[in-house]
Amino acid sequence: MIEKRRILNETLKWLDLEKTLNASTTLVPGGYHRPVGCASAQRLAVIIPYRDREENLKILLNNLHRVLQKQQAEYAIFVVEQESGTPFNRGLIKNIGYLEAQALCHFDCFTFHDVDLVTESERNTYMCGTLAVHHARRLNTWNYRVLYTFLFGGVLTFNETYFSTINGYSNLYFMWGAEDDDLFERMRKKQLRFVASKYPRYTALNHEREPRHPKEKMKIYANSSQRMDTDGLNSMGRLYQVISVDYKPLYTRIYVSVNQTEIYNQLKRYGISLLNTK
Ligand code: UDP
Ligand code: MN
Repeated sequence: MIEKRRILNETLKWLDLEKTLNASTTLVPGGYHRPVGCASAQRLAVIIPYRDREENLKILLNNLHRVLQKQQAEYAIFVVEQESGTPFNRGLIKNIGYLEAQALCHFDCFTFHDVDLVTESERNTYMCGTLAVHHARRLNTWNYRVLYTFLFGGVLTFNETYFSTINGYSNLYFMWGAEDDDLFERMRKKQLRFVASKYPRYTALNHEREPRHPKEKMKIYANSSQRMDTDGLNSMGRLYQVISVDYKPLYTRIYVSVNQTEIYNQLKRYGISLLNTK
């Protein structure tokens, strides 16, 4: 039988959540933890792309802090929140989390974590080796089936060299949710592989569905690998601004604005014109 940890899914007020986590875990402001009595071999940055999913965030934090501390991990949790008014851009937001986390501290491993996925196993460690790790391969909502073998997304871990070799995510996807597929093309192009977590089961939390624009997405995805060396970590300068960095009790909040016009300009340079789907 596959063991499953009990997912804590009650919706608490922030203050109550902070109290219960402070009672059973050790955290310093910014959602940072260092194990007592043993040194951790790697320091981990967990990066959560985020906007307007407060209930999911509380449940994730309540579970993730407990699991990571059971594993004696040294880690910090970063919630990268995009200001309202521009369509959500997950790839760019994740890249921002990677760069801004590194600006604050040295990290060895980077886990990009959707806010609505909760691991069902305490043995699912968020550490990195030479290859990338795909954690969330089997979701309860899919009856734990793997949808396709090259499926890659949801919760992923990279080391620094790996992530910079593929130039991070593309910054050009607004709301179409293909940035993980695009990233997979980058890995293929560089002949970099990933491994599946041995504990790949996750519970997916409920949320409202965003409108999808599959045709628009395909226009960008079509030439993804040609763009990879010029669209990513090395082309972010004009695309965003950090509005604030806040050391909250359970996480570090990085609040950012995204320059939609500049992204449309970059797309044009690649010969891609999109309908304004805002
Ligand atoms: N997300 C968010 N707010 C949004 C859209 C997306 O915080 O309005 C983040 C969040 O971390 C979420 C992830 O992006 O888990 C993936 O988006 P979504 O859950 O909508 O995609 P799905 O994989 O469920 O189709
Ligand atoms: Mn989701």
